[in-house]
Amino acid sequence: MTQITPQPGILDIALYQGGQSQIDGHAEPLKLSSNENPFGPSPKAIAAAAAEMAMMHRYPSTDHRDLRTSIAEAHGVQADNVICGVGSDEIIHFLCQAYAGPGDEVIHTEHGFAMYRISTLAAGATPVEVAERDRYVDVDAILAAVTDATRLVFIANPANPTATLLPTAEITRLADGLPKSCILVLDGAYVEFSEGYDGGQTLAETRENVFVTRTFSKLYGLGGLRVGWGYGPRAIIDVLNRIRGPFNLSGPAIAGAQAALADTDWVAQCLRINAQERVRLTGGLRQLGLGCDDSAANFVLARFADQAAAEDADTYLKAQGIIVRHPKSYKLPNCLRITVGRPEDNTRVLAALTQHLTGPA
Ligand SMILES: *Cc1c(COP(=O)(O)O)cnc(C)c1O
Repeated sequence: MTQITPQPGILDIALYQGGQSQIDGHAEPLKLSSNENPFGPSPKAIAAAAAEMAMMHRYPSTDHRDLRTSIAEAHGVQADNVICGVGSDEIIHFLCQAYAGPGDEVIHTEHGFAMYRISTLAAGATPVEVAERDRYVDVDAILAAVTDATRLVFIANPANPTATLLPTAEITRLADGLPKSCILVLDGAYVEFSEGYDGGQTLAETRENVFVTRTFSKLYGLGGLRVGWGYGPRAIIDVLNRIRGPFNLSGPAIAGAQAALADTDWVAQCLRINAQERVRLTGGLRQLGLGCDDSAANFVLARFADQAAAEDADTYLKAQGIIVRHPKSYKLPNCLRITVGRPEDNTRVLAALTQHLTGPA
């Protein structure tokens, strides 16, 4: 018997599958598999991160005060209620490590983001999967699954990979129905793309057990720089800061995120194009006879007749140099998730799918 044994749960973790980024034979594939900003980061963010590189011999800020202050000003919150992480993934990890352990349960939903389960198992706690209703998070099903052992409930709103949005009233009903001993985590990775939803910020301001996570990886185009943040009650922030590495964010990451946040013109332009293009992409997919829910994010989920049809379309797109995501591991085997690209990218995707599904004109 081996002498060296990892903590319980760790060997149950299936490695995270990122969006594919290469196809053999295509030097520059069109990558629409990871919900990245197709226009890239703000040029001002690139310049700010690059300038900070010259200071790489210095340790970065440990408390991220400047970045937290900028975030607080941009969102109308208190800087002391903000914590920054190496992507929002790190915040999710902190929450599980701090509040869940062996014997505790953490709820995520059927098509929920993979990190909830991974971080739960890493903390030695038990993930509890709750069914969704036609690709929408089901508040009643979550409330029915809560037990005395439930410590955390994770939902993303808008959700990934479904792109669906629950109305604020439903999120409020969920918060109201949870025991005070259980933290509701509202993952807001795509909040900016939804119109008229505050990401649960008001709830997190007024409840002791609601926490929101946000990221610079999607709209702000900084997925490679790794900056996310959390917002919530001071008591939770204090706990998470105790387990946060003192230098978790690098100097270039902090500088890049601050400059990205300040470039509001860039962000507004990206948002405007995304809103137009996701409507066009959704409409185009429906015209091809594919199912597609309204998207509140920067990607759409196309539904095919069955898994084989989704795989055939995926193979065809790859042959055309286009990478999308087959969310099989998210229990959506008949679907393809397609990030909304630049207008010309979306035209290319729709043309390729038309060619594949309807044959040569
Ligand atoms: C992309 C994504 C994240 C963000 O991850 P980062 O670690 O901030 O890059 C978080 N939640 C969901 C649902 C996502 O899709």
